[in-house]
Amino acid sequence: MGQEPDPATGSVTVPVYLTSTFYQAQPGKEGKYVYSRSGNPTRSALERSLAVLEGGKYGLAFSSGMAATTTVLLLLRKGDHVIAGDDVYGGTYRLFEQVLRDHGLQFTYVDPRNPDNVQKAVRKNTRMLWVETPTNPLMKIVDIRAVARIAKKAGAVCVVDNTFMSPFFQNPLQHGADIVVHSTTKYLGGHSDLIGGAAVTSNPKLYERLKFLQNAVGAVPGPLDAWLVLRGVKTLALRMERHDENARQVSEFLQKQPRVEQVYYPGLPDHPQRDTIKRQMRGYGGMISFQLKGGFEQCEKFLKRLKIFTLAESLGGVESLIEHPASMTHASVPRETRLKRGVTDNLIRISVGIEDASDLVQDLDQAFRAM
Ligand code: PLP
Repeated sequence: MGQEPDPATGSVTVPVYLTSTFYQAQPGKEGKYVYSRSGNPTRSALERSLAVLEGGKYGLAFSSGMAATTTVLLLLRKGDHVIAGDDVYGGTYRLFEQVLRDHGLQFTYVDPRNPDNVQKAVRKNTRMLWVETPTNPLMKIVDIRAVARIAKKAGAVCVVDNTFMSPFFQNPLQHGADIVVHSTTKYLGGHSDLIGGAAVTSNPKLYERLKFLQNAVGAVPGPLDAWLVLRGVKTLALRMERHDENARQVSEFLQKQPRVEQVYYPGLPDHPQRDTIKRQMRGYGGMISFQLKGGFEQCEKFLKRLKIFTLAESLGGVESLIEHPASMTHASVPRETRLKRGVTDNLIRISVGIEDASDLVQDLDQAFRAM
């Protein structure tokens, strides 16, 4: 959907409309498109595709996941209160604490695994609940239905960052969320070759305001980046199935490793949130975190020995990436807060790619053996 042949030319692949502006037949008589910040046919195709993928009515594309997050937060006004999960992506936490707090928004962080924690944090001025599920990097599962119910009762908007699962494995709108956000940089793009973001909703009022903000703020993707996400979407299902299968094998291996203290992965057979997982997820995805016995030095040694896994931030690409959240993706979270939230110095996060699973296991195995 959103990938139909081009109505103007019949081109089977959506064309990249590399133009900043559009011809108008008469002054003030606008056609469908006027100026590419407001709308561009390649971006429109992506926005339709994103909406359908998430089972929503309206999609909006942004220049990054953070641009999508920022624009969604601009739905709020000075003095409004937001409840967020306590291990949201470090960049999201940085935006909330180091940018938006200065603009008069208030934030409370809770462990969102227990909906009671969310309920207890509700104030009179709570206007938004912001959750990731599974969370990054500790793979905590949030019961979307329960959190959405709390938001509704409080008159707040429930936003779910669905980056980790992708629309292939989870559709938060179906479970009562008002807005779904993605970093399309990750699984939707899928090839580690672009930065992009998205927001999807079925609520016309929220859409109208977000559409206004998208144009007013202007953090939109260029047509080429929009096209790259569209191309990624064509193989999303195949890639996600392989990420999921490979992660199952890697997690099984890690669970048996004497040097591994703990594995964080939604597919663990004894996962305490099995019921929620079954209800809202159709797979486990490709993300795994684990704690290595020892500290930062042990992690450094281990990471240096890997040959297939690339030490890099980001996730969701076809190639396996590995990273150290405390010094990389979550370095912007103050140490004390980070440790309190369980993002310890011996935590490692893997984005399992689509390579041959046995090669991945062998690579990890040789790195463990050499320690
Ligand atoms: N949300 C999650 C869960 C992420 O992991 C990231 C980036 O790593 C973002 C949002 C931000 O996306 P971007 O890097 O595209 O701005």
